[in-house]
Amino acid sequence: MAKISINLATGSLQKEEIIVGIDLGTTNSLVAFINPDKNPQVINDTGKGLLVPSVVHFNAQGDALVGNEAKEFLITDPENTIFSVKRLLGRSYKDVANHQDTFSYKIIDDENDSLVKIKAGDKFYTPIELSAQILKELKARAEHALKTPVNRAVITVPAYFNDSQRQATRDAGRLAGLDVLRIVNEPTAASLAYGIGLDPTQRKTIAVYDLGGGTFDVSILDIQNGIFEVLSTNGNTFLGGDDFDRAIVHYWIEKNNLDTAELNANGGLMQSLRLKAEEAKKALTTQNLFNEKLGEIWCTLDKQTFEQLIAFKVAETIQACERALTDAKITIEDIDEVVLVGGSTRTPYVKKQVAEFFHREPHDQINPDEVVALGAAIQADILAGNRSDILLLDVTPLSLGIETMGGLMDVIIPRNAKVPTKAGRQYTTSVDGQVNMKISVYQGERDLVQENRKLAEFDLKGIPAMPAGLPKVDINFLLNADGILTVQAIELRSGVKQEVDIKPSYGLTDDTVEKMLIDSITHAKSDVAQRMLIEARSEGEQLVYTAERFIDKHAVYLSEQEISDTKIYIEALKAALASQEKDDILKKADELNEFTRPFAERVMDMAVSSAMKGKTIE
Ligand code: ADP
Ligand code: MG
Repeated sequence: MAKISINLATGSLQKEEIIVGIDLGTTNSLVAFINPDKNPQVINDTGKGLLVPSVVHFNAQGDALVGNEAKEFLITDPENTIFSVKRLLGRSYKDVANHQDTFSYKIIDDENDSLVKIKAGDKFYTPIELSAQILKELKARAEHALKTPVNRAVITVPAYFNDSQRQATRDAGRLAGLDVLRIVNEPTAASLAYGIGLDPTQRKTIAVYDLGGGTFDVSILDIQNGIFEVLSTNGNTFLGGDDFDRAIVHYWIEKNNLDTAELNANGGLMQSLRLKAEEAKKALTTQNLFNEKLGEIWCTLDKQTFEQLIAFKVAETIQACERALTDAKITIEDIDEVVLVGGSTRTPYVKKQVAEFFHREPHDQINPDEVVALGAAIQADILAGNRSDILLLDVTPLSLGIETMGGLMDVIIPRNAKVPTKAGRQYTTSVDGQVNMKISVYQGERDLVQENRKLAEFDLKGIPAMPAGLPKVDINFLLNADGILTVQAIELRSGVKQEVDIKPSYGLTDDTVEKMLIDSITHAKSDVAQRMLIEARSEGEQLVYTAERFIDKHAVYLSEQEISDTKIYIEALKAALASQEKDDILKKADELNEFTRPFAERVMDMAVSSAMKGKTIE
């Protein structure tokens, strides 16, 4: 059974409990979800790309722009373009003062507040507000791509994040309108993406090597019983792919005999060089030579030179891995698996160094810049209860009910009810002496059974003949954990009983279920009108039946005039019924009721007195 609900505000279909996973990165952020095939998938909002650069630009009016569009302002408007805000999250000015020169924007300290603020235009922003801008963008992209509101998320943070940094991340989420169900460690999410830790019987020790844009983290995890314990973390919060880019820029400056002071004064050109360097670095992941020009500057780089340029930095990361092992009190032999995370691990030289150090091939099958978000989506799915084998958490995708008078659907088990479940209702006959009752079981959201899907039909036979309305027929629906519906009908006065088993969701694909739900929304209005007409008709027909029966049976107590007048009212109601005019039917029914009420009461009184004289009137 699927979990599907409708968002009434948007009229769109909502897979219930879509909880997204978010990698709020220093350089790039992204959002992932579990797709209908049950696989984690990064959300690509049509053409905008998977990665959202963690860059926020503010224009003169203070309007924020996030992502690739904001990144372009790094060159043209660096003072108002905030990047790497994650470094400042939950930090005091003292923590980051030494690094002011790495930011092109202004970080200030507040006398009262120990947390840093950032100046853009004439406004001041906290890192929480800036992170919230990025989260808002991710939320909007997810909502646009999934066509459903996204209100809940799992957000990842580095394993070394302290309480105040984790709290700041949560606050950013809340500010972005997200209910942050859990803050998950990035290495944990990465392991989950590789399926590590999903089998509770396994015990494993994992090394997660994460080289991103501006930070390097290595984490040693011990996983057992589905619990991820961080044995140690190490790294450098100012070491990453940006350093590779900078090394390349310096190399080009030397090769082209450029004046560093002049370049630094021209922030725009410096940024363009950096972007070109990043382009070269990425190109060298798959080719051996990069050769381009930026204006008059020759930007040439071969793979071997590149590897020499970054060797020192990569060696630093390997030393951090050694320290992490020491802190975890384990050796390389104790490591069962190595996971690569972060865009910079795409560089073959980095991969090679890691493999050599750990004496094993690291996991690199999943895109390293997506792996954390994908794992976060899996964690979200676990929290949503979708990964447990306990069927108790499952729900019925469509309502189940029976056909009542006039072809109306009477819902007995509403959609989204948790299974197993049991529900029932009492019905009666509409015709005197009725001995069989047809029970038609339907699945769907429409008011008319003919628009829904018929699951089964059976007769409850052998009801003793009684006047209409007297039999008490209990109809019970019992839906078990496997989705098998048992429908039971029992006439309480006689004990006559009938039972059938039905598989309600059998043969219904998710698409069919979706269509049925969408139809129920699009037709809601016409369904209501039709339902009201049908109800009026049933009421009218019932009244014609009882009125005709009444004058038949009680003619002795009525005058000729009363009988012929009643017949006129009955004919008027019949005409209204034939016209299908709801209001007219109700009006004529009312008039018939009004007209017959006085002598109906009189007949009742007479019947009572006749009964006292020992006569029966039935
Ligand atoms: P973060 O976790 O810091 O937000 P990412 O994991 O997205 O960052 O990594 C971003 C870094 O990865 C950048 O420095 C980027 O240049 C680098 N990167 C992306 N693709 C490649 C590639 N093909 N080869 C080398 N480096 C890459
Ligand atoms: Mg990252």
